[in-house]
Amino acid sequence: MIKLKTREDIELMYESSQIVSKTLGMLAKEIKPGVTSLHLDKLAEEFIRDHDAVPGFLGMYDFPNTLNMSPNEQVVHGIPNNKPLQEGDIISVDCGAIKNGFFSDHAYTFSVGEIDPAVAKMMEITKESLYAGIRKCKVGNRIGDISFAIQLICENAGYGVVRELVGHGLGRDLHEDPQVPNYGRKGKGPRIEEGLTVAIEPMINLGTYKVKFHNDGWTVTTYDNKPSCHFEHDVAVVDGQPRLLSTYGYIYEALGITSHEEDEFLYHSIRS
Ligand code: MG
Ligand code: MG
Repeated sequence: MIKLKTREDIELMYESSQIVSKTLGMLAKEIKPGVTSLHLDKLAEEFIRDHDAVPGFLGMYDFPNTLNMSPNEQVVHGIPNNKPLQEGDIISVDCGAIKNGFFSDHAYTFSVGEIDPAVAKMMEITKESLYAGIRKCKVGNRIGDISFAIQLICENAGYGVVRELVGHGLGRDLHEDPQVPNYGRKGKGPRIEEGLTVAIEPMINLGTYKVKFHNDGWTVTTYDNKPSCHFEHDVAVVDGQPRLLSTYGYIYEALGITSHEEDEFLYHSIRS
Protein backbone atom coordinates (compact mmCIF):
# COMPACT_ATOMS: atom_id res chain seq x y z
CA MET A 1 0.00 0.00 0.00
CA ILE A 2 1.34 3.42 -0.94
CA LYS A 3 1.43 5.84 2.01
CA LEU A 4 0.88 9.33 0.58
CA LYS A 5 2.32 12.12 2.71
CA THR A 6 0.81 15.39 3.92
CA ARG A 7 2.54 18.68 3.19
CA GLU A 8 3.73 18.72 6.81
CA ASP A 9 5.14 15.17 6.49
CA ILE A 10 7.01 16.25 3.37
CA GLU A 11 8.47 19.21 5.22
CA LEU A 12 9.77 16.84 7.92
CA MET A 13 11.18 14.52 5.25
CA TYR A 14 12.91 17.47 3.61
CA GLU A 15 14.80 18.11 6.85
CA SER A 16 15.87 14.47 6.95
CA SER A 17 16.99 14.50 3.31
CA GLN A 18 18.95 17.70 3.84
CA ILE A 19 21.01 15.96 6.54
CA VAL A 20 22.11 13.12 4.24
CA SER A 21 22.78 15.68 1.51
CA LYS A 22 25.05 17.64 3.84
CA THR A 23 26.71 14.40 4.94
CA LEU A 24 27.66 13.57 1.34
CA GLY A 25 28.84 17.17 0.89
CA MET A 26 31.09 16.78 3.93
CA LEU A 27 32.45 13.47 2.57
CA ALA A 28 33.15 14.98 -0.87
CA LYS A 29 36.12 16.84 0.59
CA GLU A 30 37.47 13.72 2.34
CA ILE A 31 37.33 11.27 -0.55
CA LYS A 32 40.86 10.95 -1.94
CA PRO A 33 43.57 8.32 -2.48
CA GLY A 34 44.75 6.72 0.76
CA VAL A 35 41.53 7.23 2.73
CA THR A 36 39.63 4.14 3.87
CA SER A 37 35.89 3.69 3.52
CA LEU A 38 35.74 2.78 7.22
CA HIS A 39 37.23 6.17 8.14
CA LEU A 40 34.64 7.91 5.95
CA ASP A 41 31.93 5.85 7.60
CA LYS A 42 32.96 7.06 11.07
CA LEU A 43 32.97 10.69 9.87
CA ALA A 44 29.47 10.25 8.45
CA GLU A 45 28.09 8.67 11.62
CA GLU A 46 29.49 11.50 13.75
CA PHE A 47 28.17 14.15 11.36
CA ILE A 48 24.65 12.69 11.32
CA ARG A 49 24.51 12.42 15.12
CA ASP A 50 25.82 16.00 15.45
CA HIS A 51 22.80 17.06 13.39
CA ASP A 52 20.34 15.47 15.83
CA ALA A 53 19.61 12.57 13.53
CA VAL A 54 20.31 8.84 13.60
CA PRO A 55 22.12 6.83 10.90
CA GLY A 56 19.35 5.15 8.91
CA PHE A 57 21.22 2.07 7.71
CA LEU A 58 23.16 1.17 10.87
CA GLY A 59 21.54 -1.98 12.25
CA MET A 60 18.84 -1.96 9.56
CA TYR A 61 18.47 -5.59 8.44
CA ASP A 62 21.64 -6.00 10.62
CA PHE A 63 23.79 -3.80 8.35
CA PRO A 64 26.95 -3.02 10.41
CA ASN A 65 27.69 0.58 9.32
CA THR A 66 26.33 4.04 8.54
CA LEU A 67 27.31 4.11 4.87
CA ASN A 68 27.04 1.65 2.03
CA MET A 69 30.44 2.04 0.36
CA SER A 70 30.67 0.32 -3.01
CA PRO A 71 33.89 0.83 -4.98
CA ASN A 72 34.40 0.07 -8.68
CA GLU A 73 32.69 -3.22 -9.63
CA GLN A 74 30.55 -3.16 -6.48
CA VAL A 75 27.03 -2.06 -7.35
CA VAL A 76 25.51 -1.27 -3.93
CA HIS A 77 25.45 -2.37 -0.27
CA GLY A 78 29.25 -2.56 0.08
CA ILE A 79 30.48 -2.76 3.68
CA PRO A 80 33.09 -0.14 4.69
CA ASN A 81 36.57 -1.59 5.27
CA ASN A 82 40.21 -0.70 5.92
CA LYS A 83 41.40 -0.85 2.33
CA PRO A 84 42.67 2.57 1.20
CA LEU A 85 41.02 4.14 -1.84
CA GLN A 86 43.30 4.38 -4.86
CA GLU A 87 43.75 6.95 -7.59
CA GLY A 88 41.39 6.02 -10.43
CA ASP A 89 38.80 4.30 -8.24
CA ILE A 90 35.17 5.28 -8.17
CA ILE A 91 33.12 4.80 -5.03
CA SER A 92 29.35 4.81 -4.65
CA VAL A 93 28.36 6.23 -1.28
CA ASP A 94 24.81 5.57 -0.12
CA CYS A 95 23.70 7.28 3.08
CA GLY A 96 20.50 7.08 5.12
CA ALA A 97 19.31 8.97 8.18
CA ILE A 98 16.28 9.15 10.41
CA LYS A 99 15.14 12.61 11.46
CA ASN A 100 11.66 13.64 12.66
CA GLY A 101 10.71 9.94 12.41
CA PHE A 102 11.31 9.93 8.66
CA PHE A 103 13.98 8.20 6.62
CA SER A 104 16.16 9.81 3.99
CA ASP A 105 18.17 7.79 1.47
CA HIS A 106 20.67 9.43 -0.86
CA ALA A 107 23.59 8.26 -3.01
CA TYR A 108 26.35 9.64 -5.22
CA THR A 109 29.25 8.01 -7.04
CA PHE A 110 32.50 9.88 -6.44
CA SER A 111 35.71 9.69 -8.42
CA VAL A 112 38.97 9.23 -6.54
CA GLY A 113 41.47 11.45 -8.34
CA GLU A 114 41.61 11.04 -12.12
CA ILE A 115 39.37 8.29 -13.52
CA ASP A 116 38.90 6.54 -16.85
CA PRO A 117 36.92 8.92 -19.15
CA ALA A 118 34.59 6.06 -20.17
CA VAL A 119 33.64 5.59 -16.52
CA ALA A 120 33.21 9.33 -16.00
CA LYS A 121 30.86 9.38 -18.99
CA MET A 122 28.80 6.53 -17.52
CA MET A 123 28.46 8.50 -14.29
CA GLU A 124 27.30 11.63 -16.17
CA ILE A 125 24.75 9.71 -18.22
CA THR A 126 23.45 7.84 -15.18
CA LYS A 127 22.88 11.16 -13.43
CA GLU A 128 21.17 12.48 -16.54
CA SER A 129 18.87 9.43 -16.49
CA LEU A 130 18.09 10.07 -12.82
CA TYR A 131 16.81 13.57 -13.65
CA ALA A 132 14.91 12.24 -16.68
CA GLY A 133 13.18 9.81 -14.31
CA ILE A 134 12.49 12.51 -11.73
CA ARG A 135 10.95 14.69 -14.47
CA LYS A 136 8.34 11.96 -15.03
CA CYS A 137 7.45 11.74 -11.33
CA LYS A 138 4.32 13.90 -11.54
CA VAL A 139 0.58 13.60 -11.16
CA GLY A 140 -0.99 12.06 -14.25
CA ASN A 141 1.92 9.69 -14.88
CA ARG A 142 2.61 6.18 -13.62
CA ILE A 143 5.72 4.66 -12.04
CA GLY A 144 6.52 2.93 -15.34
CA ASP A 145 7.05 6.34 -16.93
CA ILE A 146 9.92 6.98 -14.51
CA SER A 147 11.37 3.52 -15.12
CA PHE A 148 11.15 3.80 -18.90
CA ALA A 149 12.85 7.20 -18.98
CA ILE A 150 15.84 5.91 -17.00
CA GLN A 151 16.17 2.69 -18.98
CA LEU A 152 15.96 4.42 -22.36
CA ILE A 153 18.83 6.83 -21.68
CA CYS A 154 21.12 4.24 -20.10
CA GLU A 155 20.54 1.46 -22.62
CA ASN A 156 20.85 3.85 -25.56
CA ALA A 157 24.29 4.68 -24.21
CA GLY A 158 25.11 0.94 -24.13
CA TYR A 159 25.06 0.46 -20.34
CA GLY A 160 23.56 -2.35 -18.28
CA VAL A 161 20.52 -1.45 -16.16
CA VAL A 162 20.49 -3.52 -12.97
CA ARG A 163 17.25 -5.47 -12.61
CA GLU A 164 17.42 -7.06 -9.16
CA LEU A 165 17.66 -3.81 -7.18
CA VAL A 166 15.15 -0.98 -7.49
CA GLY A 167 14.07 2.39 -6.09
CA HIS A 168 11.24 2.58 -3.60
CA GLY A 169 8.71 4.58 -1.63
CA LEU A 170 10.25 6.40 1.34
CA GLY A 171 8.77 7.65 4.60
CA ARG A 172 8.48 6.37 8.16
CA ASP A 173 9.94 3.18 6.69
CA LEU A 174 13.09 3.01 4.59
CA HIS A 175 11.44 0.83 1.99
CA GLU A 176 7.78 1.57 1.32
CA ASP A 177 5.56 0.90 -1.67
CA PRO A 178 5.77 1.39 -4.57
CA GLN A 179 8.87 -0.21 -6.03
CA VAL A 180 10.50 2.09 -8.58
CA PRO A 181 12.45 -0.08 -11.05
CA ASN A 182 15.03 1.45 -13.38
CA TYR A 183 13.53 -0.45 -16.31
CA GLY A 184 9.93 -0.77 -17.40
CA ARG A 185 7.13 0.30 -19.66
CA LYS A 186 5.51 3.69 -20.16
CA GLY A 187 2.00 3.98 -18.76
CA LYS A 188 2.36 0.89 -16.54
CA GLY A 189 2.56 0.53 -12.77
CA PRO A 190 0.96 2.49 -9.93
CA ARG A 191 -0.45 5.97 -10.56
CA ILE A 192 1.62 8.88 -9.30
CA GLU A 193 -0.43 10.95 -6.88
CA GLU A 194 -0.04 14.12 -4.83
CA GLY A 195 2.03 13.39 -1.71
CA LEU A 196 3.97 10.46 -3.18
CA THR A 197 7.52 10.28 -1.79
CA VAL A 198 10.05 8.03 -3.48
CA ALA A 199 13.76 7.32 -3.67
CA ILE A 200 14.69 7.16 -7.36
CA GLU A 201 18.03 5.44 -7.80
CA PRO A 202 19.49 4.19 -11.07
CA MET A 203 22.17 1.50 -10.58
CA ILE A 204 23.98 1.33 -13.90
CA ASN A 205 26.81 -0.91 -15.11
CA LEU A 206 29.43 -0.20 -17.75
CA GLY A 207 29.02 -3.76 -19.06
CA THR A 208 26.35 -6.37 -18.50
CA TYR A 209 23.25 -5.62 -16.40
CA LYS A 210 23.82 -8.91 -14.58
CA VAL A 211 25.04 -8.87 -10.98
CA LYS A 212 26.39 -11.31 -8.39
CA PHE A 213 25.20 -11.45 -4.78
CA HIS A 214 28.01 -12.34 -2.37
CA ASN A 215 28.12 -14.64 0.65
CA ASP A 216 28.48 -11.80 3.18
CA GLY A 217 24.79 -11.22 2.55
CA TRP A 218 25.41 -7.65 1.39
CA THR A 219 27.98 -7.05 -1.34
CA VAL A 220 26.62 -6.95 -4.89
CA THR A 221 29.08 -6.80 -7.79
CA THR A 222 28.73 -6.71 -11.55
CA TYR A 223 28.85 -10.14 -13.18
CA ASP A 224 31.70 -9.10 -15.50
CA ASN A 225 33.54 -7.07 -12.82
CA LYS A 226 33.27 -3.88 -14.86
CA PRO A 227 32.50 -0.66 -12.92
CA SER A 228 29.04 0.31 -11.76
CA CYS A 229 27.61 3.58 -10.49
CA HIS A 230 24.64 4.67 -8.38
CA PHE A 231 22.88 8.01 -7.99
CA GLU A 232 19.86 8.42 -5.70
CA HIS A 233 17.57 11.35 -4.89
CA ASP A 234 14.56 11.66 -2.59
CA VAL A 235 11.58 13.11 -4.44
CA ALA A 236 8.15 14.33 -3.31
CA VAL A 237 5.16 15.15 -5.49
CA VAL A 238 4.00 18.64 -4.44
CA ASP A 239 1.32 20.56 -6.37
CA GLY A 240 1.46 17.76 -8.89
CA GLN A 241 5.16 18.25 -9.65
CA PRO A 242 8.42 16.50 -8.68
CA ARG A 243 10.33 18.30 -5.95
CA LEU A 244 13.79 17.28 -4.73
CA LEU A 245 14.07 16.74 -0.98
CA SER A 246 17.76 15.82 -1.32
CA THR A 247 20.38 17.84 -3.18
CA TYR A 248 23.85 17.38 -4.64
CA GLY A 249 24.39 21.11 -4.01
CA TYR A 250 26.63 20.49 -0.99
CA ILE A 251 28.81 18.07 -2.98
CA TYR A 252 29.13 20.52 -5.85
CA GLU A 253 29.95 23.34 -3.46
CA ALA A 254 32.70 21.21 -1.89
CA LEU A 255 34.12 20.24 -5.29
CA GLY A 256 33.79 23.69 -6.86
CA ILE A 257 31.31 22.51 -9.51
CA THR A 258 28.67 24.84 -10.94
CA SER A 259 25.45 23.03 -11.84
CA HIS A 260 21.85 23.96 -12.63
CA GLU A 261 20.64 20.36 -12.94
CA GLU A 262 18.33 20.64 -9.93
CA ASP A 263 16.85 24.06 -10.69
CA GLU A 264 13.60 22.79 -12.19
CA PHE A 265 12.92 20.54 -9.19
CA LEU A 266 13.61 22.96 -6.33
CA TYR A 267 11.61 22.33 -3.18
CA HIS A 268 10.06 25.33 -1.46
CA SER A 269 9.96 24.93 2.30
CA ILE A 270 6.71 25.93 4.01
CA ARG A 271 8.74 27.13 6.98
CA SER A 272 10.74 29.80 5.20
MG1 MG B 1 20.19 4.38 -0.86
MG1 MG C 1 17.17 3.56 -1.71
